[in-house]
Amino acid sequence: MGSLEHLVDIHVDRCIGCTRCMRVCPTEAIRIQNNKVNLMEERCIYCGNCISNCHKNAYKVTSDSFANLLKHKLNVVLLPISIYGMVSNTEELNAVYQTLYNYGFDEVFDLSIITQILSEKTDYMLSDNNDKTYILSQCPSIIRLIQLKYPSMLNHLLPFAFPFEIGAKMARKLFSKKYNLNEINIGISYVSECLSNFIAIKKPIDKAKSNVDYVFLFNDLFKNINAIKNTNFNKQVAKKGIQFGKVGAIEKTTNIKEYLSVDGINRVSDVLEKVYLDSFSHIKIIEAYSCVGGCIGGNFTVENTYLSKWKINHFSQGLSDEESEKYVESYRNYLEGSDWYFKEEIKGKDPFKLSDNINQSLIKMNKINEILKKLPNIDCCACGSPSCRALAEDIVNNHKTIEDCVVLYKNQGGSYES
Ligand code: SF4
Ligand code: SF4
Repeated sequence: MGSLEHLVDIHVDRCIGCTRCMRVCPTEAIRIQNNKVNLMEERCIYCGNCISNCHKNAYKVTSDSFANLLKHKLNVVLLPISIYGMVSNTEELNAVYQTLYNYGFDEVFDLSIITQILSEKTDYMLSDNNDKTYILSQCPSIIRLIQLKYPSMLNHLLPFAFPFEIGAKMARKLFSKKYNLNEINIGISYVSECLSNFIAIKKPIDKAKSNVDYVFLFNDLFKNINAIKNTNFNKQVAKKGIQFGKVGAIEKTTNIKEYLSVDGINRVSDVLEKVYLDSFSHIKIIEAYSCVGGCIGGNFTVENTYLSKWKINHFSQGLSDEESEKYVESYRNYLEGSDWYFKEEIKGKDPFKLSDNINQSLIKMNKINEILKKLPNIDCCACGSPSCRALAEDIVNNHKTIEDCVVLYKNQGGSYES
């Protein structure tokens, strides 16, 4: 246990061991030891719930350095669609572009183009498929949750790669042609709205290396956006594509009628559990986001999620379908067909197994059940484990002892003997 390979670090001096983050972790990946937080990386789905709920700002995510941009002749930044949750008109979008140019980027590629084409591909694919319920795969934490908890449902995932991966491929090809540059001289960056996408670039789910070279944090770049003087820049925005900044995009952009939209990792988990038990088989697609509200609710965004929803709808109303179609049309066949898909099969994981040896697992399971009989089973978290069962498991795995249960001690009049 510890930090997550230094992609997510803990300010130990700030952590007071209050257990807030541990209580909201959907995969029981957090423990408190010696009054400090500890992360179990193998269980983490990088949903960012812990970061959003820490009132002491004890979590630290470090983005790449801007010095990296100096390595390239041309730097392109992929504009996340969640940006439309913070701008409500073209003038404000100009300010975003100006900010990005000021940071040293030469070109901006708007990912709404990609999400719009992906929605068309999804619509087309599902018009012919009634065999099962599909799951929209644009949120990496949802895929990680399925890998961990519902691996038999991995074949329900739509096969399309993440928009920033497709966008990086497209932008590299596009600007290499425009500037007559070898693709290796072009640096591609993404501005991440959430921990989930940030980690999906640093540690891709389906391949060894991301198409994106660098990733920066949304709130680092866009805190002071209003202070920038506006100019009119050339921008290509896809009207339907920006709807994917928030939950509900399937309804707004496709002809699919049998859909279910769900946001917030715990609610998604509940829905997946029901699909797992096959009680939703008539639904064609589940649009699921780890963050409440969708990407606009990402833990690095800067605007209130409800205002963001309004801003996306407002911005979309001001865009013309014809102009949008003109932009999208030129990109539909720009890439090879395979560039739109995940590279490798996404496999399940089992970080909860007690041992590789079945007999050992059974022995440990029996011990856990024996310990559980002694514990108060009130899941108070005072021991620094997320439930009494988790404490029993931690005891069996030698991470904790029964003395960590303060309630047992108190109930038994200051003794651990029963
Ligand atoms: S929420 Fe977690 S990281 Fe933050 S102070 Fe409490 S225990 Fe520490
Ligand atoms: S990122 Fe999510 S899964 Fe990982 S430790 Fe935090 S709350 Fe748990």
